[in-house]
Amino acid sequence: MSDAIRIVKATTHKPKPKDSDLGFGTLFTDHMFVADFQEEKGWYDPRVEPYGPIPLDPAAAVLHYAQAIFDGLKAFRGVDGKVRLFRPQKHVQRMNHSAAQMCIPPLDPELTLRSLVTLVGIERDWVPKTVGTSLYVRPTIIASEAFLGVRPAKSYIYFVILSPVGAYYPEGMAPVKIRVEEKHVRAVEGGLGSAKTGANYAASLMAGEEAKHEGFTQVLWLDGVHRKYIDEVGTMNIMVKIAGEVITPPLGGTILPGVTRDSVLTLLREWGAGVSERQISIDEVVAAHKAGTLDEVFGTGTAAVISPVGELAYKGHRMVVGGGKIGPTTQKLYDAIVGIQYGTAPDTRGWTLEV
Ligand SMILES: *Cc1c(COP(=O)(O)O)cnc(C)c1O
Repeated sequence: MSDAIRIVKATTHKPKPKDSDLGFGTLFTDHMFVADFQEEKGWYDPRVEPYGPIPLDPAAAVLHYAQAIFDGLKAFRGVDGKVRLFRPQKHVQRMNHSAAQMCIPPLDPELTLRSLVTLVGIERDWVPKTVGTSLYVRPTIIASEAFLGVRPAKSYIYFVILSPVGAYYPEGMAPVKIRVEEKHVRAVEGGLGSAKTGANYAASLMAGEEAKHEGFTQVLWLDGVHRKYIDEVGTMNIMVKIAGEVITPPLGGTILPGVTRDSVLTLLREWGAGVSERQISIDEVVAAHKAGTLDEVFGTGTAAVISPVGELAYKGHRMVVGGGKIGPTTQKLYDAIVGIQYGTAPDTRGWTLEV
């Protein structure tokens, strides 16, 4: 793809919301990034243009066979006023992993990184100021070819949109109630579990709705074959701390390779904490709870950073985790990552990229 990013500035600008009015994913900024792909040309015409609808043929492959991927990362305004993206290179790398899984042609990592930096740079005034708020960055690729045959499409659209989002925990981190899902499955070995693709989200909706009707925040997914090993929690990676050791399921099968997961594992190892990436059965979690060694359970993901689990329901039994309170490792990890994101702690690992 040609290196030059064309820029078409918007002639009108939307009013910017107050930080305290921000929710999640309802407001979008004035510009978006777009590039096109055709089999003969490769990726071409990278550009920033006014935010708006994308023309799409009703026969576009994405609308019928869900050939699409996305990613999600954030830009933060530090207490020093600087705008930083958190681990954008890692997100670009993961996007190409997802693309490969969905037979979507890869993006040039260098240009993709530049697409994020350029767009966030143009929209820097949209990055809210209050600690906890951020500018959510959503890069996406959709199959745009008008063709109803079943094969990978020959044309695609890459676009990036930005959304100012409020604090995930306006009243401080809060433990959630989770139901272990025994009926539905999110992904199976050999399936799409490791790709960030809309199809996985579609597959997760019914279980999430059922859990919400029963008074839970989300479900804990078990493996699709045996309904035995824990996989993920909602759309977050899962970690359990048993007898001092943090355990999380290994990558390579059904698990989404979370950037927050990687950050948490890196920090824990640096701190010299016990960490293990291995399969862990729900029975082992139940046994640890009975033995009084189930110290902490938490989810990890870009939206919340860390989400403590205060209660797990399985086969009608309710297990309260850590007295329903936030555990020390949960809190320490949250503070460490948030500190780097808002520039209150030094970034010694090159995780942030200043815009
Ligand atoms: C995005 C996502 C995660 C978390 O990944 P992060 O990079 O940490 O945001 C975990 N599980 C699923 C299914 C996801 O889609």
